Amino acid sequence: MNHPTPPEQPADIVARLRVTFRTGRTKPVEWRKGQLGRLRELLTEHGKDVAAALHSDLGKSSTEAYRTEIDFTIREIDHTLDHLDGWLRPEAAPVPERLGADATAWTQYDPLGVVLVIAPWNYPVQLLLTPVVGALAAGNAVVVKPSELAPATSEIVARLLPQYLDTDAVAVVEGGVPETTALLAERFDHIFYTGNGTVGRIVMRAAAEHLTPVALELGGKSPAFVDSGVDVDVVADRLVRGKFLNAGQTCVAPDYVLTDPGTAAALEPALAKAVENLFGVDPAASTEFGRIVNERHFDRLGGLLDSGRVVTGGVKDRTTKYIAPTVLADVDPASPVMQEEIFGPILPIVTVPGLDDAIGFINDRDKPLALYVFTESGTTRERIAAETSSGAVGYGLPLAHLTVSDLPFGGVGESGMGSYHGRYSIETFSHRKAVLAKPLS
Ligand code: NAD
Repeated sequence: MNHPTPPEQPADIVARLRVTFRTGRTKPVEWRKGQLGRLRELLTEHGKDVAAALHSDLGKSSTEAYRTEIDFTIREIDHTLDHLDGWLRPEAAPVPERLGADATAWTQYDPLGVVLVIAPWNYPVQLLLTPVVGALAAGNAVVVKPSELAPATSEIVARLLPQYLDTDAVAVVEGGVPETTALLAERFDHIFYTGNGTVGRIVMRAAAEHLTPVALELGGKSPAFVDSGVDVDVVADRLVRGKFLNAGQTCVAPDYVLTDPGTAAALEPALAKAVENLFGVDPAASTEFGRIVNERHFDRLGGLLDSGRVVTGGVKDRTTKYIAPTVLADVDPASPVMQEEIFGPILPIVTVPGLDDAIGFINDRDKPLALYVFTESGTTRERIAAETSSGAVGYGLPLAHLTVSDLPFGGVGESGMGSYHGRYSIETFSHRKAVLAKPLS
C-alpha cells in the first residue's frame, strides 16, 4: 500500500540545510552567483506565471507586477552579481606598531549559516526574494516562508524555487501562524522578518531564545509634509502615484499629508485631478488600480472612510474588495484613520500651522519608515532631516529611495531594525569576522 510522504518537519528541514552548510557547499562565490543566476532564470522564464499569481492575489496589473516585483528583483540580482566580488573583498585594518611590522589585520565576511526569511503578502515576490538574494549572495542556506495571505504567489514560489535552486540549501515552507510558529522554535543563524510590529515582537521573542539576530522590516505611518508655495499639481501627481500604487498597500506609501490650511485648500482639487488623470473618472474600471487583499482588511479600511470630508473617492464594493482612491480633508488627528497605519487607498490631510508644528507632530508619534518632504526651501529640508528620525527621507518623490540599490532599506524604532538591499544585504546576512595574523618565524 502506498502512503503519501509526510511533509518534512521544520526541525528536519533546518537540520538538513545545516548539514549542507557545514559541508561548505554554499561558501564559494561561484555557488552563490550560480544560485542568483538560476533565480534570475526562474523570474525571466516564469515572469508571466508569477504576474498571473500576483493578479490573482492582489489584482496587480501586469505592468505593476513587473515594475515593482519581478523586474525589481531581477535588478537586485544583476546589481549583486555585478558587485559581489568587490563587496566580499577583505578589508585591511591598520595594525598598531607594538604588534610588530610583520603583523597584519583585516575583516572578512563570513556567512551566518541557516537563515529564515519570513515575508508579507503586499509585495509577496519582491519582499520574499530580495532578502533571499542577499542571503544567498552572503553564502547562507535559506528557509523561505511566503505569506499565506497571497496564496497563489506562495504556491508558485513553493513549486518553482526547488526546480531552480539547490534544494539542499534552499527550502520553502508554506503556511500561516502554526507553520511559522513551528519554524520559529528552531535555531536559525538569522531571521529576516517583514510585516507588522505585533508579529515582529513575536519573532524577536522567539529569536531571543537562541540568541539569533533579527532584521525586522516593519511599517507604520509615513508622513508627507507639504510646504507652502510648492507647485501643488506636481506634488499631487507624485503623492497620488506613491500612495495608490498597489491600492495603498505599500509599507513606504505616504500615509497622510501634513500641511498648513492654505496649502491644503490648494492641494485638495489638485489631488482629485491627479487621481482622475491616473485612474480615470471611474478607478474601478482601471486595470492599473489594485484591490484590497482580503475581507478583513477591506472591512477595516471601510471603517476609516468617514474620518474626514471626502475630497475624492469614498466608494467601496465588498464583492470585488474595491475601495476607491480616496482623499479625506479636515481630518482630526484623534480620528480613527490617524490611529493606525492605513495600508490602503485612503489619504488623509491633516493641517498644522507651520513647520515647527509639523516637526512636533512627527516627533510626537512613532518613528516612521519613510518621511516625505515637498519643499523648495533648503532650510526646511535641513531642519526636517536634523530634527526628526525616520528609516528614510524622500525629498520630492515618494517610494523611489527603495529602488536605489546602494541605499540601505530599513526602519528605526517602531518601523524596524536592520536594513538590506545591495551591499547592506551582505552586511545583514554575514558576520564581519576580525582576523589578526602574525608570522611564526
Ligand atoms: P502578513 O499577515 O503576511 O504577515 C507577515 C508574515 O508573518 C507572514 O509570513 C505570516 O505568515 C507571518 N505571521 C503572521 N502572524 C504570525 C504569528 N502570530 N507568528 C508568526 N508568524 C506570523 O503581513 P502583514 O504583517 O499584514 O504585512 C503588513 C505590514 O507589514 C504593514 O505594517 C507594513 O507596513 C509592513 N511591511 C513592511 C515592509 C518593509 O519593508 N519594512 C514591507 C511590507 C510590509
